[in-house]
Amino acid sequence: MALTKKGKFWYGTTSGDTQAELRSYSAANRHEAVRFAASKCDCGCRTFALRTDEEAGVAIRTCTDCGQEHPMGDSEAYIEEAAPEAHACVCENEVFELVSGVSVYEGTHDVRWYYIACRCVECNLVGVFADWKCEAGDAAAFLAKV
Ligand SMILES: [Zn+2]
Ligand SMILES: [Zn+2]
Repeated sequence: MALTKKGKFWYGTTSGDTQAELRSYSAANRHEAVRFAASKCDCGCRTFALRTDEEAGVAIRTCTDCGQEHPMGDSEAYIEEAAPEAHACVCENEVFELVSGVSVYEGTHDVRWYYIACRCVECNLVGVFADWKCEAGDAAAFLAKV
């Protein structure tokens, strides 16, 4: 497992690489992610289209296999006021593996900041595509819903 840089973008091959990029991004954001979870559809598929609205705090993933739409984390609570937009890679592909990470309030398990990192299944680009301040309570319960 190793991240490599081409131009201004990072590329990896595994969800571990995606998690490493998420951690470094979050450290630079001064809310370092300490817990992580990879997205997996109920059907077992691990690749998704991703739509987010960072201002509303909403992310929706759509399974590329069965088509199920799933609001990630606590997104369902804010979905009515959101206008989520689709993400595309610099290579124009729109299918990703997703890794979520959260920072927590010191001395607690409560979510403080939410990050969504993607790995493009076509070109292997990895990056944090969305993040926002998020007060969603228990991190384990939150990450069980990504
Ligand atoms: Zn599915
Ligand atoms: Zn790509």
